[in-house]
Amino acid sequence: MDQRQASPRQDLNDGIAPPRAITNQAAARLLDRIAQLLEAKGENPYRVRAYREAAAQIEAMQTNLRELWQEGKLETIPRVGPSIAAKLAEFLKTGRSSYLEELQRSVPQGIERLLEVPGIGPARARFLSEHLGIHTPEDLIEAAEAHRIRALPGFGERSEQRLLIEARRWAQRERRLLLGTAWPIAQEIINLLKADPAIEQVSMGGSLRRMRETVGDVDLLAAAAVPEVASLRFSQIPIVREVLASGPTKVSVLLESGLQVDLRVVEPASWGAALQHFTGSKQHNIHLRDLAIGRGLKLNEYGIYDIATGRRIGGEVEEDVYHALELDWIPPELREDRGEIQAAAEHTLPVLVELSDLHGDLHVHTAWSDGSVSIEAMAVAAREFGLDYIAVTDHSQSLAIAHGLNLVRYREQRHEIDALNQRLAPFRIFAGAEVDILTDGSLDLPADVANELDYVAVSIHSRFQMDREQMTQRIIRGISHPFVNTLSHPTGRIIDRRPGYDIDLEAILRVAARNGVAVEINSAIDRLDLDDIWVRRAKELGCRLVVNSDSHGPDQFTNLRFGVAVARRGWLTSADLVNTLPLEGFSSWLRQRKRQRTA
Ligand SMILES: [Zn+2]
Ligand SMILES: [Zn+2]
Repeated sequence: MDQRQASPRQDLNDGIAPPRAITNQAAARLLDRIAQLLEAKGENPYRVRAYREAAAQIEAMQTNLRELWQEGKLETIPRVGPSIAAKLAEFLKTGRSSYLEELQRSVPQGIERLLEVPGIGPARARFLSEHLGIHTPEDLIEAAEAHRIRALPGFGERSEQRLLIEARRWAQRERRLLLGTAWPIAQEIINLLKADPAIEQVSMGGSLRRMRETVGDVDLLAAAAVPEVASLRFSQIPIVREVLASGPTKVSVLLESGLQVDLRVVEPASWGAALQHFTGSKQHNIHLRDLAIGRGLKLNEYGIYDIATGRRIGGEVEEDVYHALELDWIPPELREDRGEIQAAAEHTLPVLVELSDLHGDLHVHTAWSDGSVSIEAMAVAAREFGLDYIAVTDHSQSLAIAHGLNLVRYREQRHEIDALNQRLAPFRIFAGAEVDILTDGSLDLPADVANELDYVAVSIHSRFQMDREQMTQRIIRGISHPFVNTLSHPTGRIIDRRPGYDIDLEAILRVAARNGVAVEINSAIDRLDLDDIWVRRAKELGCRLVVNSDSHGPDQFTNLRFGVAVARRGWLTSADLVNTLPLEGFSSWLRQRKRQRTA
């Protein structure tokens, strides 16, 4: 499900709307794709060549293909005989080719994507498919990593290495969406579909339901007694620009925003089995299938079956699948085959933290630095979101670009916060700061000023390129000052744009645990820093964590949902976080820190 299909623009065969203007290039591409699939299937080379040559002819032609077709003159094109002319005519008329579709059905799924990897032509694709069952770029990567390709005749070690590099590059080239971009759109569509009485169930699926930090496709799943009705409703929702492909049980659409969304529709009796199956992950499902086989059971998207009798024993709800294997139901965020199945068998799955467990947000910017609105406006927005307290953490002065505050300004801000706390009680604003860790590990704020503040977070915003040893020491020194409460966005990564600093994060987390410094999960949708794997490690090392929004405007508290998702994927319970403490508890956590530092 995570595997992206060809981009909608390339997928010219999927349009069912009457084609507005099929260009010569699009028609040439259709013929090339047919040639490629014929060759991959090992068809007659003369037929393959006929399609290639016709494609080249049309590509180079000055005359508009559409006009020739309307005049009934397709066969006057050199290299275009009656058979190819008929395929072109269908394509020009409907935007699709039943012949291409037939070919696509006759080859293993994914082979067209495999053909996009440089170095993989149709002949090689067929060879790899026949000998090693490689049908997709993912299969190719796996086989190359396991050194299974080098032994094949005509390949060898060097060509295996080259294919691995190309396939990895191809995989990275695939566009992935940020969770925070895809999720709200999927939720909006779900709300529209839920309002329809013909649709009994609807849910996100795939990596989106597992809340991975990026997702390949937006996959939705619905259950309806009459699946065609649900498919139709989906293709008619207002934000759909174009229907890319439409069948009774699967519809792909392109939204006005350019995002592709796929809906699969199943019968209500299969809802649970299908939801489980299409949520994944692949590894999680493989592990479950193995368990099932050991018990004489079979799992698929339609249900759970007793192999001996063929009897269906469940599948209406997702719990059926897990209970049939004597497992507790596993929250989707944990389904990565990282020990969750074992824990479910031993009934030791954690009770994961939920968004509603958060009482405060300890990373909030205002117009005093680079935020967009006043302290009051942020406080009111946080209260409306359901929080009981925030820490205002405007930048310190070295971050001139963000209008960082100096000590005089922090004191002025303190006055404003005190006055607001009078008015907004019982809501509480803590006077804090996001203080830069300077290159030598000192902080951009004198200790006496820091001691006046209620709360201090530290982070890095400059000189990202220091070497591993220096950067690690810089951060360790930064979190060793006694007045520091939290380390913010600990790795500095920006998803898909900037890798994290080169650091020994393990060493840093150990110091944070020892010093009682909380470690942040930053909910900004392109940060999500720490990530799920490190969150779990931080917990093992004894760190307390905090899920913060890093809001720069009043509409960004909603991002906390994504930080909570990371926490859940990192197996955190409410007790592992600091800002799940109610106001009183949080205040005493702060007081305790103050006592430690003065002791
Ligand atoms: Zn920051
Ligand atoms: Zn910030």
